[in-house]
Amino acid sequence: MSQYDYDLFTIGGGSGGVRAARFAGQAGARVGLAEKGDLGGTCVNVGCIPKKLMSYSAHFHEDFADAAGYGWTLHSEPTFDWPALIANKDREITHLNGIYQRLLDGANVSLHRGFATVEDAHTVSVEGKRFTARHILVATGGHPDKPQIPGRELGITSDDFFHLKGLPKRAVVLGGGYIAVELASILNGLGSDVTLVYRRERLLRNMDADLGIHLADEMAKKGIRLVFDASIAAIEAPHAGEDSVKQVRLTNGETVAAECVLFATGRTPNTRGLGLEQAGVVLKENGAVVVNENFESNVPSILAVGDVIDRVALTPVALAEAMVVVARLFGKGERVMSYQNIPTAVFSHPNVGTVGLTEEQARKAHGEVKIFKTDFKPLKNTLSRNTERTFMKLVVDAQTDKVLGVHMVGGDAGEVIQGFAVALQCGATKAQFDATIGIHPTSAEEFVTMRTPVA
Ligand code: NDP
Repeated sequence: MSQYDYDLFTIGGGSGGVRAARFAGQAGARVGLAEKGDLGGTCVNVGCIPKKLMSYSAHFHEDFADAAGYGWTLHSEPTFDWPALIANKDREITHLNGIYQRLLDGANVSLHRGFATVEDAHTVSVEGKRFTARHILVATGGHPDKPQIPGRELGITSDDFFHLKGLPKRAVVLGGGYIAVELASILNGLGSDVTLVYRRERLLRNMDADLGIHLADEMAKKGIRLVFDASIAAIEAPHAGEDSVKQVRLTNGETVAAECVLFATGRTPNTRGLGLEQAGVVLKENGAVVVNENFESNVPSILAVGDVIDRVALTPVALAEAMVVVARLFGKGERVMSYQNIPTAVFSHPNVGTVGLTEEQARKAHGEVKIFKTDFKPLKNTLSRNTERTFMKLVVDAQTDKVLGVHMVGGDAGEVIQGFAVALQCGATKAQFDATIGIHPTSAEEFVTMRTPVA
């Protein structure tokens, strides 16, 4: 009989925690999992899933307009019902919460509802009940931040966005990253008057420069007002609440009136109150758990994966990290986590998809590179007279001919880039791209038909 109650105790029932618990349970380990909220974590409840559902909803606005060029007449103006969208979205999320519960049940994972704290290297306490475990996995995710701005309490974060009672008439979105451009696009598509305020001059600054530039042009064409090189200095309103009109004072001297001010200014790892420091675990300044390549903290029985380690805050990365942990602790062989060629998509309108190195990174790491670019009106936008243009870019190592980066702004960019991520993972060369037959007529075929590098 083991000296511990569990072989693995996972704190957090989000993407990383559930994945680790499930696969450890399936491998025969005795697993406990604590979750204080709804199963599925950020991705299922206040992230990827509701965001994408709402992004689909927002895109109908354009689809209705596009339909006319294809011979369709709508006999009345389409109207949008926010409570209906939120209720349907919530029903789908409840369904997913249930699936997560069944996955845990199916793997014999004991679920403990409540806030867990770490007492020592092998002890966890959940709502006054103590459990011992050979390994403790911290997979508590992160939460959105509000910057230190006077009146910050008048603004909301992405967590609140998904539960607004109504569509704000006017919204100011602060930030230039994933969440800012995605939620600004949703609000715009659904009919809000949106101003996006960003303290630099280029959106998505961690991606290839051309992506943010092209995206900004397209977002502006759709009616989003982009204010660069500025931030919010203060927010004023007679009272908090969704219906109050906020006066948003910008650092450039401008004032914008809006019912909704949304902060999309980054996320912080959830370690506060977990007891990790008392247990001797070293944290970074922002609270992230410091882990080695095996996802062990400096206290080896305490491990961590996902947003709480603040490496790459993406669901599929957390899943992969969890699989590495399970393989090492309960599997046959060792697996290592590779952070190379992680494809990612931003569900702005239009979508952004990217994998591999940016042009800047490639020049730094490989010296001479060849760049292939194209910017075109997709076939679908001809009859509709939609002015949205698609942008594609390949970054190629001039010495080895290896494709180092594939980047796109345009419809279904995420769907397109997923396949090219496999090609990059296999080390594909530009010659191999060229030897690949295109699928006609698609936008994606442009990636295998670009022949002339830019000067
Ligand atoms: P990001 O780090 O992507 O962007 C934060 C933005 O806020 C940046 O533009 C940043 O500016 C700005 N900012 C930060 N602090 C301040 C401040 N004090 N005042 C004004 N502006 C500020 O974070 P997000 O919150 O958008 O998303 C968090 C992470 O979640 C992402 O990095 C991503 O990993 C993940 N995510 C993934 C999605 C997907 O896969 N589709 C969707 C949503 C989130 P600056 O550039 O100057 O630092």
